Amino acid sequence: MISNEPRVTAEAPSLLELDDIHVDYEGIISALRGVSLRVGRGEIVALLGGNGAGKTTTLAAASGLLAAKRGAITRGTVAFDGQRGAGLDARRLVQGGLVQVLEGRRCFAHLSVHENLVAGALVRRASRAEVVADAERIYALFPRLAHRIGSAAGLLSGGEQQMLAIGRALMVRPRLLLLDEPSIGLAPQIVQEIFDVITRLNRNEGVSVLIAEQN
Ligand code: ATP
Repeated sequence: MISNEPRVTAEAPSLLELDDIHVDYEGIISALRGVSLRVGRGEIVALLGGNGAGKTTTLAAASGLLAAKRGAITRGTVAFDGQRGAGLDARRLVQGGLVQVLEGRRCFAHLSVHENLVAGALVRRASRAEVVADAERIYALFPRLAHRIGSAAGLLSGGEQQMLAIGRALMVRPRLLLLDEPSIGLAPQIVQEIFDVITRLNRNEGVSVLIAEQN
């Protein structure tokens, strides 16, 4: 169970706030008790904890995905950019710019790299020209993906799949990116490449980031 103090930075107004969140699974398994955290605009916040500590549950509470796991917020509130409630609607959150990269990469294995990126853009009904421009941007951020553009995602290495999962999320043009253990199982050099891109997105484009990691 995680119970962490909010990181308070006076200058950054809140984008995401979890306040005293309690979560149960199946109505009986208590996974979170009293979690509060805050991500300010333009901040990168790390949520650290060991196996089973409740990181994924915390991210799912923020992104409205608990119901899909038979979980529910039983107490507390979630607020994202002016929306507030005891759990917010996942689709509205994505449309509002809160985009989660799930643990385990979850690319569409039989679709090509490029098709996976195009799928990301479907959420925001982008024009064809916007999709082309945004995909080019992802290839510039992750040159390894440009080299595998026509390959089926399922044939990529773990690191490339993680890059693709992040790239697909970026096609939504997020304002807040939720990343669930993006470094898991990857070589240190690949982890460094991925974290460099995340840092650049944050510095250059103001994308806020909430990242769950064990380390
Ligand atoms: P990991 O690093 O293993 O991904 P985590 O910190 O993300 O761990 P969670 O996956 O959030 O932790 O799990 C928190 C607790 O909730 C654990 O005790 C876990 O067994 C339980 N739990 C998670 N998902 C479910 C579920 N769908 N149904 C029942 N219990 C669950």
